[in-house]
Amino acid sequence: MADTLKPIVCPACGKTMEKVFIPSQGINIDICTEGCGGIFFDNREFDKFDEKNEDISAIIAKIEGKTFSKPNESMTRVCPNCGAKMVKNHSSVKQQIEIDECYTCGGKFLDNSELIKIREEYENNEERDEDILRYVYQKVGRQLAEQERKYSEIGTHDKTYVRKFFDVLTRHRS
Ligand SMILES: [Zn+2]
Ligand SMILES: [Zn+2]
Repeated sequence: MADTLKPIVCPACGKTMEKVFIPSQGINIDICTEGCGGIFFDNREFDKFDEKNEDISAIIAKIEGKTFSKPNESMTRVCPNCGAKMVKNHSSVKQQIEIDECYTCGGKFLDNSELIKIREEYENNEERDEDILRYVYQKVGRQLAEQERKYSEIGTHDKTYVRKFFDVLTRHRS
């Protein structure tokens, strides 16, 4: 989605958001400076700010030390860019931070302290991705152990397909 200059309304509190130019990226980010301090990122913009080594000083300058209104957490948020209903998702498998995402245009909305918290979760996106793999491995691993226990009860020595899959995936480790 192209960076747009049309003013948008904060999905959390309804105030008009301020366009903040980010010189290092040459793009505008929408920040709710008059209301709740929330930040809206157009499709793919968020990727430029979610890692610790990426510069967010222009964003911080707008929100640091300010008092913002408390947004209504329970209300369904509507994407200020395209009008679709936004969906709440955890920022990572740590499941501590929830952000609003628009599946139609790819926009993301973060409450004012969330950007900083998300950047603190991992050193970089490689770590974030590895954590997803670890999480899936543990989840599936538990089910696998249960399934194999049942297999052994009925006395079969066949490997389950999932076990074969994991054997292939982890061959270099064992
Ligand atoms: Zn707001
Ligand atoms: Zn949208």
